[in-house]
Amino acid sequence: MEEKKNKPINKPIKGKVILSGEIVCKTGLHIGASDAGLSIGGMDNPVIRDPLTKTPYIPGSSLKGKLRSLLERAMDKEFDKKGGSGKSVIYRHECSKASCKVCRLFGSSSKDNGNIPSRLHVRDAFLSETSINELSELEEGLPYTEWKEENSLDRITCAANPRSIERVPAGAVFEFEIVYTIEKEEDLKDDLNNLQAVLKLLEDDALGGGGSRGNGRVKIEIKDVLVRKKEHYLEGKDEIKVELGGDDLGTSVEKVYRGS
Ligand SMILES: [Zn+2]
Repeated sequence: MEEKKNKPINKPIKGKVILSGEIVCKTGLHIGASDAGLSIGGMDNPVIRDPLTKTPYIPGSSLKGKLRSLLERAMDKEFDKKGGSGKSVIYRHECSKASCKVCRLFGSSSKDNGNIPSRLHVRDAFLSETSINELSELEEGLPYTEWKEENSLDRITCAANPRSIERVPAGAVFEFEIVYTIEKEEDLKDDLNNLQAVLKLLEDDALGGGGSRGNGRVKIEIKDVLVRKKEHYLEGKDEIKVELGGDDLGTSVEKVYRGS
């Protein structure tokens, strides 16, 4: 409350770390379109699609939200913020403390403690060319997806209560890109290791809807990691490719960043 209005704030960009790779669907993936009006043929649970190409994609916000929730839970953070509305009220963690490893990585806005911009930008992940070609040959009547019937059984009357859900079939591959902004060198290793940890954790969790019924098992393959220091942008210096496989991600990137 005592904070001065015009206190100077520094938000340096020391560089960017660009991770790219593939999200491979091990089971069908359902990431729902929030507006049921987007449904084709009156389907109950349509997937979200690119409006131009009609191909299903994984919105960056969905992937980022999932990764954030996994880190919140792995770090046992309090869900102190209420969001959403109506039936889709969600609780999440947002403390806006600079020391909080979740908020500094994923960003936070809080009336009391101010805003922390996210250090992560998670791009929308689109189907690979190969998957587009393979899936366009499906004969399900819907472009690039399958239609899964799910039954729940009324325990008293034994009546089946069928519903259907649209899924991107197992085997489909999405190409992802996540960009991390280096603000503080001392956080670099820790932040990237936390990112690596939640990407691993996601493989043993589920992406999208119906995870408890088998949907959304994914494999995440990081193929390329590039470090672009600010000199890359300001002075045209080369980007540096990070060799993966030896150390953890944070250590590998830190070594490249520090030039050792
Ligand atoms: Zn926090």
